[in-house]
Amino acid sequence: MHPALILVSAAALILGPGLWVKRVLEQHNREEEDFPATGGDAARQLLDRHQLQSVKVQCTDIGDHYDPDAKAVRLTRDKFERKTLTALTTAAHEVGHALQHASHYPPFLWHTRLVQVARVTGELGAVILISVPTAALMSRRPVSPVIVGSTVFAMLGAGLAAQLAALPTEVDASFRKALPMLQDGYIHSEQVKDAKSILVACSLTYVAASFASVLSIWPWLGPRLALVWPGNPFCAAGGKRLASVVGRTTLPVQGAQ
Ligand SMILES: [Zn+2]
Repeated sequence: MHPALILVSAAALILGPGLWVKRVLEQHNREEEDFPATGGDAARQLLDRHQLQSVKVQCTDIGDHYDPDAKAVRLTRDKFERKTLTALTTAAHEVGHALQHASHYPPFLWHTRLVQVARVTGELGAVILISVPTAALMSRRPVSPVIVGSTVFAMLGAGLAAQLAALPTEVDASFRKALPMLQDGYIHSEQVKDAKSILVACSLTYVAASFASVLSIWPWLGPRLALVWPGNPFCAAGGKRLASVVGRTTLPVQGAQ
């Protein structure tokens, strides 16, 4: 396959979900309708309804998410304070994660652990890769490509495993937790179709943000990957071009679970 075709396919795969998520969330976050609560109030009511008074509801600047360490549902200001379909649906989705945590839902626990493993693997891998030029300079010999390759694939593999574990967690939070809660007094039957689109977007947000974050380190990672895969189409110029496109695409919600 032509390298340019691979590059375009990779860009569509990586950018496509993020752009679609952004469009769906914005589309239903514009018009204030006659909804019974703001996103913040709905999150509080739903948590109380499930005896989760200990879980906090907070406003944040860093994207909608549930924080299992702080036991907090966090919503951006445009959802926390407003009565829109996106605000209500996102609040119900994040409350869904709080319910998973409280009930020790296995995929949620696996995902939380895998994120921690990926974080440690990423930090260790970065230290190893940063040390490569120094080690080569001191020993006056090139560092084995096997060491560089194994490190890169361990970093990417741990990240990928965490993303895969996120999928069942996200689908459960959206469709087995959030949707029934929304249908129980928050939305009308004619709003269910739009709410389902938003819930799919909420489920994809984490995966889309993870794809984008891989590309943000590509200018640095690409040349190192060339050591173990010479001539791959994503290295050097192609990778930099792709990463510059990703850099201009700001996802509305990042780091959400
Ligand atoms: Zn989520």
